Amino acid sequence: MTIHALEITNLKKVYPKGIEALKGINLSVKQGDFFGLLGPNGAGKSTAIGIVCSLLIKTSGQVLILGEDLDKNPEKAKRNLGLVPQEFNFNGFEKVINILINQAGFYGVPYKQAKQNAIFFLKKLELWHKADSPARFLSGGMKRRLMIARGLVHYPKLLILDEPTAGVDIEARRFTWDFLKEINQQGTTIILTTHYLEEAENLCQQVAIINSGQIIKNTSVKELIATLPNQTYILDLKTPVPFDFVIPHFETKVIDSHMLEVNCLANQALGEVFIRLKSLGVEVSSLRNKSNRLEELFLKLVKNP
Ligand code: ADP
Repeated sequence: MTIHALEITNLKKVYPKGIEALKGINLSVKQGDFFGLLGPNGAGKSTAIGIVCSLLIKTSGQVLILGEDLDKNPEKAKRNLGLVPQEFNFNGFEKVINILINQAGFYGVPYKQAKQNAIFFLKKLELWHKADSPARFLSGGMKRRLMIARGLVHYPKLLILDEPTAGVDIEARRFTWDFLKEINQQGTTIILTTHYLEEAENLCQQVAIINSGQIIKNTSVKELIATLPNQTYILDLKTPVPFDFVIPHFETKVIDSHMLEVNCLANQALGEVFIRLKSLGVEVSSLRNKSNRLEELFLKLVKNP
């Protein structure tokens, strides 16, 4: 029998007052996978994660972590799990290095090893120079990296991150992405929730979409992206363009001399836009999606799963 990193069977959660947050979900995440759990607000993502991480009590169903039943062998099951919640929930008065050492100790890692792990992750996440600072003195980005280090310090086989890059700037997001890719390649299974389709696109192999407490899609990222018909991008330009400027083969709208709106069809790659602009001598300073593609995708799936 294959042992999955996470296996959820018929998981239900009814909150007091009868709110059915999870209506019997089934989910399997293979070992080594990078898995995205997506869904609009109120879909049930946090409830599912809360139950897997023993922060919430389920109504019924089964959760296996690396084959260990969370009800029957809670200690063994939890040992394989690391959680990076969205809110900073460490003690701000504690030294950064002690937060990590204590967390590893909580998972049964002996002190010497815990210290070694803490040093490793502090260096890896560029926090080493802050090792002896109280955590409250760290910047927002550093606090977020500390949360990731804390989730990993006992070397869990499964790491769950709730919106790991919510509100962080592009540079910090890239840093986190590269780091997570690296630890996934080294064998850690990762599950994350995100509001950014780009994040799922960049990191995840498989995704599940939850809506109203039910999984409405469970597929590869590639397949999911292929269902999006076209995308509209807003490009900020370094080089000014005339009002009748057109990128050959692309639907182009000049918003002003330094801003273009470009529509890419499903079979047109964004890279081609850049190649064409370069050949026309036009430099781009930044790029963004016109609308939130993930929200569009949710709407489409809810109407037509
Ligand atoms: P998501 O993380 O996808 O935004 P949640 O799991 O937080 O969704 O919420 C799922 C549903 O459960 C929502 O309808 C939400 O209002 C409800 N819910 C969440 N937490 C509680 C709670 N403590 N008590 C009652 N209802 C809750």
